[in-house]
Amino acid sequence: MSMYLKSLELAGFKSFAKKSSLEFNSPISAIVGPNGSGKSNIAEAFRFVLGEQSIKSMRGKKGEDLIFNGAGDGGRANRASAKLTFDNVKRLLPIDFDEVVLERVVHRDGVNEYLINGSLVRLKDIIELLASAHIGASGHHIISQGEADKILNANLRDRRSMIEDALGLKIYQYKKEESERKLEKTDQNIKEVESLRREIAPHIKFLKKQVEKIERAMEMKRELIALYKEYFKREDVYLKKEQDSILHDRSKPEAELSELGDELRRLKDVVSQASQNESRSPELLALEEKIASVRMDKDATTRELGRIEGEISYLKRSIAKKNEELNKEKTKTVFLVDVESLYQEIDEKIRQAEGSEDIGFIKSIFNNLRELVTGFISKNKTKNDDSATADFEKELEILSSDKHSFERKLAEIREEEQSLSKKYDVIKDEIEKNKDQNVEAEKAILRIMTRQNELHSQMASITARHEKISLEKEDFERELHEAAMLIGREAINYDSVVLEEVGEDRHAQLERKRTIERIKIRLEESGIGTSEDVMKEFKEAEERDIFLAKELSDLETSGAALRQMIVELTEKLDTEFKEGVRKINDEFHKFFVLMFGGGAASLKVVREKIRRRKSAEEIEALERGEIEEMGDDETEELGDEGLDIEVSLPRKKIKGLVMLSGGERALTSIALLFAISQVNPPPFIILDETDAALDEANSRKYGDMVENLSKYSQLIVITHNRETMSRAGILYGITMGSDGISKLLSIAFDEAVQVAK
Ligand code: ATP
Repeated sequence: MSMYLKSLELAGFKSFAKKSSLEFNSPISAIVGPNGSGKSNIAEAFRFVLGEQSIKSMRGKKGEDLIFNGAGDGGRANRASAKLTFDNVKRLLPIDFDEVVLERVVHRDGVNEYLINGSLVRLKDIIELLASAHIGASGHHIISQGEADKILNANLRDRRSMIEDALGLKIYQYKKEESERKLEKTDQNIKEVESLRREIAPHIKFLKKQVEKIERAMEMKRELIALYKEYFKREDVYLKKEQDSILHDRSKPEAELSELGDELRRLKDVVSQASQNESRSPELLALEEKIASVRMDKDATTRELGRIEGEISYLKRSIAKKNEELNKEKTKTVFLVDVESLYQEIDEKIRQAEGSEDIGFIKSIFNNLRELVTGFISKNKTKNDDSATADFEKELEILSSDKHSFERKLAEIREEEQSLSKKYDVIKDEIEKNKDQNVEAEKAILRIMTRQNELHSQMASITARHEKISLEKEDFERELHEAAMLIGREAINYDSVVLEEVGEDRHAQLERKRTIERIKIRLEESGIGTSEDVMKEFKEAEERDIFLAKELSDLETSGAALRQMIVELTEKLDTEFKEGVRKINDEFHKFFVLMFGGGAASLKVVREKIRRRKSAEEIEALERGEIEEMGDDETEELGDEGLDIEVSLPRKKIKGLVMLSGGERALTSIALLFAISQVNPPPFIILDETDAALDEANSRKYGDMVENLSKYSQLIVITHNRETMSRAGILYGITMGSDGISKLLSIAFDEAVQVAK
């Protein structure tokens, strides 16, 4: 067999004030000594170094109680330490050292230190290390004094737990409990996550609706962008084309109008010239008036002359009548001198006439001549006779003179009339001539103005078109601005748009614009302002939900795994436990028969019956007849599985533990303990006076069993029993002097028997 325990070293631990060391180089080591010498302290030192946390199980109240407290004149220690050395060549403990030293130190302030091979570790590390080697602090392998029948006294459940521990099933039990804890935690987490999801669900739903709205809006936006781009492109093309066409259409009439304007100005000059001619008509009028007045003068003068001539002719006729009377004087002779003087006068007058070209004047000369001659004649006539004739002649002379002057005046008037008439004709002619020119110009002006009207109306329609286009262009610019504001620059980058049907009907474009307006209104109505925030929030919320869903599914998976594991562990525990119990029962029976020389003993798996008071609900349910009556005011139900012990002693009728004597109890429990240890041998077992109650015969049997057991586990027995001592390969004697300090010494068997007493 292999031995794993090498040594135990104590310092300041309880009564072991000084450093004391025990070597365990034998399968059975015995510790002997008188009562109160400190033997049990050694068993407790084992518990201590293996990590026991219950101070009570080491007979103390607090950590400090484990430290040597001084006795008599011995000073107290500041720390208690126990150091346990394992042989680990076979790797009993899963660390890569051939020797493992566990050490625990407790200080007066209650602080504990744990060390593995001199390195500070946590308690957990110690427990884990030992558990893997089927060693535990409060384990089944350290049977303290008076504890042997603990297993007999325990209730069903505790007994089961002890057997599980001994069978090495605790590890599964821990795992199961851990899984259950984890499962509980997982279920709680599931509930929390579910409640979280429930909590955020309405918000996500709300956000989702928002997002759907936004997505619809975005779809509308995309549609709008496409429409806008095409619309803008077409509008741009349309406007440019229309503007070009207007420019083109305008150029011809404009040029013509400008030409016509020039022509018109020229013609208007002509006309204004004519109107200057027109201004001569007052001159003409004045001339006409003058001529009229001259003519009136002429008429008056002519009338006057006619009257004078009438008078003259009357006078002449009167004179002729008179002359006839005077005919007789016709042969009258005149003096030559008188004739010559007459001649001189005549000659003078003729000379005057000859010097003039004025016909009037010449004519008047003729008159003068006539008057001279007649004057001469009448002078030479008989004066007395022709007084009447002379009066006539005188009057005639005056009249003739008047007549001459009127004739001159008339001649002058005629001359004036002629000259005025001539002047008038000249002006009249000019006016007439200008009038003709004017008429031509005015006709042309009329023609030009008609054409101008035509052209102006043409231009007006072009201007109207231009105004329309300008408005459309303004609209276009406003729409661009609007689109940029509403959707962004994307909507107005229409340069790259390639139009498929270039010559599309304008109507289609207007229809497109109406569609744009419709979508725009719908988009505005959808009222999605801070869409990015909502999208982000939704994304986050959704991610969170997905995360939670994932977490939930993870939790459910791990929950299921845990449940499965619990089922498996439960099954494993159950089958191994039952299998273990079966094996223990075999050994138990054998040991029992060996100890008692017959009879029977076994462990029995039973279900605990729990009696408890009925609950108020149950009483109510009973009253309603929903459940059946079972007892007065208590009810019974089945609890967990536990272990019962059945014994039957040979040659005795008694059955059951309660009836056993103290010795029988001790034998039974030893049989059970050894059976258990046999089935699943721990590396070492410490038995503190387990043999105390045995008589000599049974002590021998006990010694045999100890020897048998030591084939599987290293044994450390604390005993007063001679028989037991005799089986040990090494013996330690402990004594305590008056100083209250335990002393340790290796001794021979004979000495031991002495020491133990
Ligand atoms: P028995 O054979 O009667 O069972 P034992 O040999 O097992 O006795 P223990 O119970 O191990 O004796 O030792 C008890 C002794 O240890 C007592 O005398 C007690 O005074 C002493 N002791 C316990 N704790 C301390 C301590 N902290 N300091 C000093 N001595 C202590």
